[in-house]
Amino acid sequence: MRDVIAAVERSVKTYVVAIDGNALGGGLELSLACDYRVASKKSKVGLPEIKLGLLPGAGGTQRLPRLIGAQAALEVMLKGGTHAAEKAKEMGILDEVVEANPVDAAVALASKNAGTKRRVSEKAAFIGKGIALQAAPFVVSQAHKMVPPEDHGGYAAHKLIDAVEAAVELPFAFGIAREARLFEELVRSKPSAALRHVFFAERELHKIPGLPAAEPHDIKSAGVIGAGTMGTGIAITFATAGIPVKVIDSNDEAVEKAKQTVMGMFMYQVQKGKLTQEEAWKRGQSIVFTDDYNELADADVVVEAVFESMDVKRQVFEKLDGIVKPEGILASNTSTLDIDEMASVTKRPEKFVGLHFFVPANIMPLLEIVRGKQTSPQTLATAFKLGKALRKTAVLSANAFGFIGNRMVFDYAKAAGELAEEGVSPARIDGVAKAFGFPMGPFAMGDLSGIDVAWHIAKARPDVAKGRTGVIDRLVEMKRLGQKTMAGYFKYDKAVGKGREPIPDPDIEALFAEEAKKAGIAPREVSDAEIRDRLVFALVNRGAYLLEEGVALRSGDIDIVYVYGYGFPPHRGGPMWYADEVGVKHVYDRVLSFGWQPAPLLAQIAKDGGTFAAHRSKQGELVNA
Ligand code: NAD
Repeated sequence: MRDVIAAVERSVKTYVVAIDGNALGGGLELSLACDYRVASKKSKVGLPEIKLGLLPGAGGTQRLPRLIGAQAALEVMLKGGTHAAEKAKEMGILDEVVEANPVDAAVALASKNAGTKRRVSEKAAFIGKGIALQAAPFVVSQAHKMVPPEDHGGYAAHKLIDAVEAAVELPFAFGIAREARLFEELVRSKPSAALRHVFFAERELHKIPGLPAAEPHDIKSAGVIGAGTMGTGIAITFATAGIPVKVIDSNDEAVEKAKQTVMGMFMYQVQKGKLTQEEAWKRGQSIVFTDDYNELADADVVVEAVFESMDVKRQVFEKLDGIVKPEGILASNTSTLDIDEMASVTKRPEKFVGLHFFVPANIMPLLEIVRGKQTSPQTLATAFKLGKALRKTAVLSANAFGFIGNRMVFDYAKAAGELAEEGVSPARIDGVAKAFGFPMGPFAMGDLSGIDVAWHIAKARPDVAKGRTGVIDRLVEMKRLGQKTMAGYFKYDKAVGKGREPIPDPDIEALFAEEAKKAGIAPREVSDAEIRDRLVFALVNRGAYLLEEGVALRSGDIDIVYVYGYGFPPHRGGPMWYADEVGVKHVYDRVLSFGWQPAPLLAQIAKDGGTFAAHRSKQGELVNA
């Protein structure tokens, strides 16, 4: 690549590049070495290498600052976004944008300018229009300050800034050599390996071994049952994708609140300049609230989001089955309940599937598609297609309590609770999780989703989610249900971070101590490394069970669930990738040292010296637990 680019630039002939589609990464780097750049209007350009923990390694970091200035080049390369042709022309990246046939335009330009060379490499880099070169150190240090620290997801960003600094300070040949060296360092770095794993794991998600090919249905209209937190978010998601949706709820108060949320959401996007008034109005109009189930007769898919109660859900699906056209798909957004039991009350279990959105449904990118025993290949194919239309990253899970993400989070929360019972403060535990790279710690997360929710789950499945002490019962008794009651594991104050900032509460530390004493758990000294390992390896150990049981198809699927749904730091690749990287044997030893039961698959891979990434669950035999 570098040699080809150098040859283009060295040549005495005039090179005109014609771009007709995407010129991202290497495609744009080659273009930058040409004398003229022409693109069709539909084209997009960009240097997205940063997203894989890399920097543009074929001259991009040296040529772009010479073409559009260091400041603009940093912006393009650090964000790694794509830019539409017109915009790229404004920025100075392209010379000409044409409606279509860029080759014709390029030939015309080449004929007119035959013999002209405009070597970007011969120009001096500049900072920005009207900004003196002396400002370079300031611009560079500002850039370093604006990106995350090296060990917090910013490893490649700092190296990229170093490369741009070289473009400004050094002659081209030296700058290009510096770029190559920095690129090599990144290629070999752990964060980049992790980010590339996430990139490729995402592209595997829709591959379901053993599943016969099936033509997906078109989804042109949808229904949602329940206008609560989830139903409202799901309705917004459909409307945003251009799919008209009818929302059923008979609770007037809930409907009123939902209408306000919908309006507020679209108005916010207008204010931010992301939507025009007209589009916002159109989207708002495509969500219709009603209490009449008969209006769903023609829906291609109906997603149920009523209370988490099997009785209520069974009633809803019995009713829907009698009303929705036979080819319509019925889906549940349940967090934990049995999809097959719901399907069993309908006459179309093959058209039944779980669509597990995450809160807030219109923002969180993850969707778990839950496959029931009888879910047909066509229904699954439709669910994946729908996921794509809704711009979600969809991961397949078998029908098992808590599916992939929540099943693992129960173990994570349990590990956090046990640490607190041993005398570690929730604030310290959350601090360690954040230092690892999670956006929030386990206790802040518990407060966000609601202590009552955890309490209900512990009651329903004590085998899965019950702690060693009565702390959760006590919190519910005290009506400390989390953020919504302004108190949970932490306190909240409207004046501090709009009531969302956790404030440590000594009363809660005392509560943990009291309950631990009752349960005969002695306080002990715990290191930060142990806190980290107990949190992360709880995820890994459960992930190993899920892989073995066939609940998840691949370790990469689990990693995607954690990165996209639970804020696992992407530069660490997800829990299973992280385990492979620190060594499965090491994880196994630590799990034993914590007195936990290791998953058989964890023990086996530790013994064989293998990795989770190399493991495949039984093809096409997703078991239903
Ligand atoms: P919610 O209490 O906010 O909303 C439930 C809504 O359903 C209420 O407005 C209620 O009036 C309505 N409803 C109840 N019975 C109905 C019926 N028979 N017909 C029509 N409407 C009815 O609950 P939520 O948080 O939105 O959760 C809904 C579902 O989504 C649950 O199964 C939950 O487990 C799941 N879920 C929740 C989250 C979350 O974090 N909140 C995340 C993923 C999945």
